[in-house]
Amino acid sequence: MSTTLDSDERRVLESIPHQLLIGGNWQDGEHGTFAVEDPATGDTLTEVADASPADAVAALDAATTAAPEWAAFPPRERGEILRRAFETIVARVDDLALLMTLEMGKPVAESRSEVLYAAEFLRWFSEEAVRIEGRYSVSPTGSGRILTTRQPVGPCLLITPWNFPLAMGTRKAGPALAAGCTVIIKPAQQTPLSTLAFAAILEECGLPKGVVNVVTSTRAGATTEPLLDDQRLRKLSFTGSTEVGRLLMSQASKTLLRLSMELGGNAPFLVFEDADLDAAVEGAVLAKMRNGGEACTAANRFHVHESVAAEFAARLAKRLGAMRVGRGTDPGVDLGPMIDAKQRDKVAELVSDAIDRGAKPLTGGSPLERPGYFFEPTVLGDVSDHARLLTEEIFGPVAPVISFSSEEQAVTAANSTEYGLVAYMFTANLKRALRVAEALETGMIGLNQGIVSNAAAPFGGVKQSGFGREGGHEGIAEYLATKYIAVNMD
Ligand code: NAP
Repeated sequence: MSTTLDSDERRVLESIPHQLLIGGNWQDGEHGTFAVEDPATGDTLTEVADASPADAVAALDAATTAAPEWAAFPPRERGEILRRAFETIVARVDDLALLMTLEMGKPVAESRSEVLYAAEFLRWFSEEAVRIEGRYSVSPTGSGRILTTRQPVGPCLLITPWNFPLAMGTRKAGPALAAGCTVIIKPAQQTPLSTLAFAAILEECGLPKGVVNVVTSTRAGATTEPLLDDQRLRKLSFTGSTEVGRLLMSQASKTLLRLSMELGGNAPFLVFEDADLDAAVEGAVLAKMRNGGEACTAANRFHVHESVAAEFAARLAKRLGAMRVGRGTDPGVDLGPMIDAKQRDKVAELVSDAIDRGAKPLTGGSPLERPGYFFEPTVLGDVSDHARLLTEEIFGPVAPVISFSSEEQAVTAANSTEYGLVAYMFTANLKRALRVAEALETGMIGLNQGIVSNAAAPFGGVKQSGFGREGGHEGIAEYLATKYIAVNMD
C-alpha cells in the first residue's frame, strides 16, 4: 500500500475483502495477486487476488450448484435481500465513494452520485422480483389453453468495465438476482475494489452462498474463455468496448449463449437555433464532463446550428476552462485523472490529429505534466469532417464543436457513425424534437437534458453499440426464459 494515503483512505481499502469470492468463500487466486493503481498518482493502492481459468471454473461450479435453490427462493425474499443491499449501500455512500475515487479517479462528489445511482438498480429490481408474470389464454380453436411462465435463465457471467465501477455491476446483478439467476462477476482489472465491496454487502444482507461469485483477474480472455465453452453457463452480459464485445460474441456462438451487449458509443449532441442556449450549455457540460468524459454516453461531438455555434463554443469553453483539475479526493476538484496512461495518450493522439487537420483549441488541448494521468478540459472549434475524433469514441474531456445549416444536415451528420447508443438534442420546437428523435439511429435520446441514465428506464443501444436493455421493466427480461405449456382441454 502506498505511503501517500491518509488514514480514511487506508481504512476504506482495508475494510473490504481482497480475495476471490467462490461458493461463499473468500479465497486466494491461483495466480497470486495483482496491483490496483491510484490513477491520480500512479502509486499502488492495494493488491487483489488474480484468478486462473481453474478459479473461474470453480466459480461456475458454485454458481451451478447454487442455481436451483436460488431459482426456487420466494421472489419476495429475493427482493428483500436486494432491498437490504440498497439500504446498506446508501448508508455507506461516503466510504464507497471514497473507495471508488481511489481506484477510478473521479471526484468524490461524482463517485457519491454513482454509488447512489448504482444502489437504485437494487431498489428497482427488488420491486421487480415479485412482478415476474406469465399469461393464460384460450387457444384460437377453443380446444386448448396456452399458459406461459418465465423462469430464470440460470448461471450468468457478468463482465463489467472500469468507468462506472459499481453501477455497471448493480445494473446487471440487480436484475439477474431478482430473476433468480446466480452470477459470476468479472470486474475490470483497473477497478475491482467496488465490486468486492458490493459482493461483501450482498453476503452481509443474506444472499446464500454461491449465488454471487467474484473473479478478479489480469487475464480476462484466458479466465473467461472456459466459461464461454461450458454449457452450464446460460448467459453473458457484457459492458465494454465494441471490439471485445465482437470477440466475446463469436466465442459465445459455440454454446449459443444468450447475450446482452452494452458497447461503445459516439453520442451526437445537437443544438438547434431555437434552443435555450443556457440550458444547452448546462446540458453540454453534463453530457461531456460527467465521469470526466469516460462514459459510453458521453457527448462525443457537438453539432450546433451555424447561427449559434460560435457563441455556444465560447460559452462551453469558458465553463470547461474554469474546471479545477486534480486528485478526486481533493476538495473542490471538478475533474480527476483519466484511468491510465493508455487512455490519456489515446485522447492526446485524437486531439493532435484534429489540430493537425485545422481544429482550434478554445480551451485546453494537452495532457498535464504531473504524476497521474490528467488531461485538460478541452473545447475544439473549426473541426474538420475528417478528424478521427468525430468517428472514434474519445472517452475523455474533449468537446469538438461543428456547425450545421439545416435539420436534415444535422440528422445525417448525427447518424454518420457505426455506433447508436444515445443522442442529445436541444430545441424548443416540439414537432422538430419528435421528428428528429424518430430519425436518430440510437437506443436513447436526451431531449433538452444532458443525462439519460435512470434505473427505471431501459438503457441500451442499436447498431455497433450492441443490444439488450438494462434497467426499466426490460432489464429483468434479459435474465428470464419464457416457457409455454400447452394444455389439452378436449
Ligand atoms: P474493454 O476493454 O472492452 O473491457 C471491458 C471488460 O471486458 C473488462 O472487464 C475487461 O477486463 C474485459 N475483457 C477485455 N478483454 C476481454 C476478453 N478477451 N475476454 C473477456 N473479457 C475481456 O472496455 P473498457 O476499456 O474497460 O471500457 C470502456 C468501454 O466500455 C467503452 O467502449 C465504453 O463505451 C464501454 N461502455 C459501455 C457502456 C454501455 O452501457 N453501453 C457502459 C460503460 C462503458 P480487463 O479489465 O481485465 O481487460
